Amino acid sequence: MSVRDEAARLAGEVAELRHAIHQEPEIGLDLPKTQDKVLRALEGLPLTVSTGRALSSVTAVLRGGAPGPVVLLRGDMDALLVTEETGLPYASAIPGVMHACGHDQHTAMLAGAARLLCARQAELPGTVIFMFQPGEEGHAGARHMIDEGVLDAAGERPVAAYGLHVTSNRLPCGVFSTRPGPILAAADQITVTVHGRGGHASQPHLAADPIPAACEMVLALQTMVTRKFDVFDPVVITTGSFHAGTTDNVIPDQATFLATARSYSASSRALLADAVPRLITDIASAHGLTADARYSAEYPVTVNDAAEAEFALETITEVFGSGRGVRGEFPIPGAEDFSFVLDEVPGAFVFLGACPPDRDPATAPTNHSAVATFDDAALAEGTALYAELALRRLARG
Ligand SMILES: [Zn+2]
Ligand SMILES: [Zn+2]
Repeated sequence: MSVRDEAARLAGEVAELRHAIHQEPEIGLDLPKTQDKVLRALEGLPLTVSTGRALSSVTAVLRGGAPGPVVLLRGDMDALLVTEETGLPYASAIPGVMHACGHDQHTAMLAGAARLLCARQAELPGTVIFMFQPGEEGHAGARHMIDEGVLDAAGERPVAAYGLHVTSNRLPCGVFSTRPGPILAAADQITVTVHGRGGHASQPHLAADPIPAACEMVLALQTMVTRKFDVFDPVVITTGSFHAGTTDNVIPDQATFLATARSYSASSRALLADAVPRLITDIASAHGLTADARYSAEYPVTVNDAAEAEFALETITEVFGSGRGVRGEFPIPGAEDFSFVLDEVPGAFVFLGACPPDRDPATAPTNHSAVATFDDAALAEGTALYAELALRRLARG
């Protein structure tokens, strides 16, 4: 039986696991119920399983019957602080928490792939590490798992690592997409506090008003983006939070704002980290004020290895037929902590369309929406791709 047929045969149990995880979503690095479901799904399989110390991760190692290299497959497991409004029969039973990014599908597909590959253990030429990861949504769970040794779980470093991500829009169900080079942005945070001196709004010359200076900083960041960065290596800065003052006739002591900075290369990212704080503090000083500007590095650029991305596209075409693998023209402005893995091991991050058939991928709600839905029909395809990437990459040696 082909891997794809076998994945289709497993689709029912993969969907069952997915629905159970979806109904009981958990947030952040501590996902005990999700971890438990994964451990139960892997029970009885010929795997060496370990769990995380600082986070509820699961690392499972499958040693094949034939010698060969190590490959890592990753699925993330955490949900979001979103109140689900899909009305699905298996919708979240936890108020305010929802698997709105489809990580329930990743976890279930990776468990399905583990089952499928375990059935082929005897002929497997090498070792597979299954990385079940909490805390993708802003908690750098991948970084924690690397610190706890996931990349060395098999005794030697993987030659390749692959991650899958479903998308509720953009791609028709069952269509995969990836690209060589950057596939997702780096996402960093800019935190600014402008210190002035409060006073009566009618006599600003007797106070030190932080608000106009903070407004100038917000606009100057946009000018900086257009003057300091190569237009073909784009940077996006968005100020998403801006707070100062309490009423119209009082000059406040402080103004604060938060911005996100997205970039697609290590060099642009380094330039941001250097130029942003300087711009802020120099504008403050031009107005006789002071400012604290913190540039916090969060997730790096997710960079696909060119050869591994080509290999993934080839595998998709060979397994599923032409037209099922789309070479992404541009990176996506979101960010992923699988970037930490790809900083250390060559590999590829692949998107999988899971848009339900009654929605148009061009207009369907995006990941993170309270009404985003991910079709179960994608599960067999993602399970098959995880397994095929491992099998074919190991066979290459
Ligand atoms: Zn997400
Ligand atoms: Zn996600």
